[in-house]
Amino acid sequence: MTKITQLLKKLNEEQVYAAVVSDPVSINYLTGYYSDPHERYMFLFLFAEKEPVLFLPALDAARAEATVSFPVVGYVDSENPWEKIKAILPKTDYPQVAIEFDNLNVTKLRGLETVFSSQFVNLTPTINRLRLIKSADEIEKMHAAGLLADKAVQIGFDNISLDKTETDIIATIEYEMRRLGYGMSFETMVLTGDNAANPHGIPADNRIENNALLLFDLGIAANGYMSDMTRTVAVGQPDQFKKDIYQLCLEAQLAAQDFIKPGVTASEVDAAARSVIEKAGYGEYFNHRLGHGIGMDVHEFPSIMAGNDLVIEEGMCFSVEPGIYIPGQVGVRIEDCGVVTKTGFEVFTHTSKDLLYY
Ligand code: MN
Ligand code: MN
Repeated sequence: MTKITQLLKKLNEEQVYAAVVSDPVSINYLTGYYSDPHERYMFLFLFAEKEPVLFLPALDAARAEATVSFPVVGYVDSENPWEKIKAILPKTDYPQVAIEFDNLNVTKLRGLETVFSSQFVNLTPTINRLRLIKSADEIEKMHAAGLLADKAVQIGFDNISLDKTETDIIATIEYEMRRLGYGMSFETMVLTGDNAANPHGIPADNRIENNALLLFDLGIAANGYMSDMTRTVAVGQPDQFKKDIYQLCLEAQLAAQDFIKPGVTASEVDAAARSVIEKAGYGEYFNHRLGHGIGMDVHEFPSIMAGNDLVIEEGMCFSVEPGIYIPGQVGVRIEDCGVVTKTGFEVFTHTSKDLLYY
């Protein structure tokens, strides 16, 4: 069953027989065609009883036609897109049409209101639910993206030097990965010393500190799928306190990874890591959720956090990333993403988590 068929089946169960997909990542997920239309319009129209229609800027039509097996309609900049959409759609008077509440801006909503005489219902939860459980093919792509993150972080390690800055190392990592044909899945973070003690630290022209910890958070986008990993390493000889905080963070991360299996809840996974850090007295310094889902987006469902009673199932992919940030002293985060298997959790990144010294 194709993903479009799966989505329509779910919508039919709710008596919804038409949908408009507007998020380029959702369109990629459903069709295998990806394009960022920027300020222009791209919509995938889905119907229970009729073929889909992909509407997009005319300049993208040829590439889309080569990818999808249903009608593609392009519009040129001088055309009124809404009039054109109304003219090409087979039917616009469905009682209900599902649209992506989390993606549409007001301009697009107003435009769609001129096309459909329907009540709009929210498609976002249905798509999120579909994307929550990854197929074997998707999991394979996640593993491939993970291996590339391992490669990228190793390039970072190989370039650690006291005469370099955070941004020097980032530039080298991103340049080398670009040369191999890959882009990053988000802006690479390399944070030295105190800067790593800020969970939202911004890399700058800070020289790599000696006898301190150095944090790398990065990911690669490959074949439409994202990786995301964090490693914290030692530069020189950090003091015992910094090393102890590192070991505590690692113990918490491993406790959560060992705990994950189908049937436990997201909040229990969070607690498995958090309780280790709390027991040691550092709970207040771990001030974010344990993890987030990952797939075609770096952040997607589920959220691994207190209060989320979602039951973990085989095929879910998410990060496990406890951090301990003590302002002015030390910052550590250790992150792997992985997939829930029948019996446990298989990670996509394999870079050592022993404290490495540079
Ligand atoms: Mn993450
Ligand atoms: Mn990360």
